[in-house]
Amino acid sequence: MEEFSTIASLRARLAKERATGRTIGLVATMGSLHAGHLSLVDAARQSSDCVILSAFVNPLQFGPHEDFARYPRDPVRDRDLAAARGVDVLFTPSAAEMYGAGSDVRVVAGEVGSRLEGAVRPGHFDGVLTVVAKLFNIIAPDIAFFGQKDIQQVILVRRMIRELDFAVRLTVVPIQREPDGLALSSRNTYLSPTERASALALSRALRAVAAEWRDGETDAGVLRARMEEILHAEPGVVVDYVVIVEPERLAPVTRAVAGIIVAVAALVGRTRLIDNVILGEAYA
Ligand code: AMP
Repeated sequence: MEEFSTIASLRARLAKERATGRTIGLVATMGSLHAGHLSLVDAARQSSDCVILSAFVNPLQFGPHEDFARYPRDPVRDRDLAAARGVDVLFTPSAAEMYGAGSDVRVVAGEVGSRLEGAVRPGHFDGVLTVVAKLFNIIAPDIAFFGQKDIQQVILVRRMIRELDFAVRLTVVPIQREPDGLALSSRNTYLSPTERASALALSRALRAVAAEWRDGETDAGVLRARMEEILHAEPGVVVDYVVIVEPERLAPVTRAVAGIIVAVAALVGRTRLIDNVILGEAYA
């Protein structure tokens, strides 16, 4: 595995790949790698000749009172995990490399970016789409791999690719979970053992609702009420939202059909967790 920290050196390296017609797969991460990220690497490994993993804690997507400073960072471990999993090129730019002095131009995520996560984290998706657009321009990947875990991010990246005409294919990788159901997340390291036990209510509620839907319940109001009942029964969990929405604009639906998203965000202690299922698709 080769590692680059400057845009110019990475571009020079990738030019060689392209010259020989090799396809490039991009896995964009904020580092602190876990098995969820590595499943994206596996998917990329399967369908691209050259797998590039970026590990960059993007300051633009953190609000002023969010956890940018304490976000977990472990570059040495990341390097080992990436190399062992078959990453060809690791890209670890500094914030100064990505956003030079006076950097001010941003991608605007629009209305869909102001819903759900965007409602609680204003500007978050402008920051996400700006860094993803930069990575697409720097790397020009044939395929980009994103996790369903961050479903609103997936929807917005898909919209950006379409609306801003990026020549990139998007592959969405299912959510990787702990054996007990907890969706893997770098932020899980913030949870105390008690909080971690409480956090299981999110996946438990999603599982219960998916099971009811499979048994024939399609009334979104009923399914939502069931979710809330399970979540409110867990004292350590403060629900931010439970939504049943369509996958284009994230607008609420009244009938839950296959492809509809059930998404939840909640505070467990001071940690904000998100999780979701897509009805009709496999989930753990
Ligand atoms: P992050 O480092 O949190 O920005 O995540 C980088 C990529 O990994 C994003 O596309 C995430 O959706 C994806 N990802 C994070 N957690 C998981 C998970 N549990 N399963 C699958 N993909 C994930």
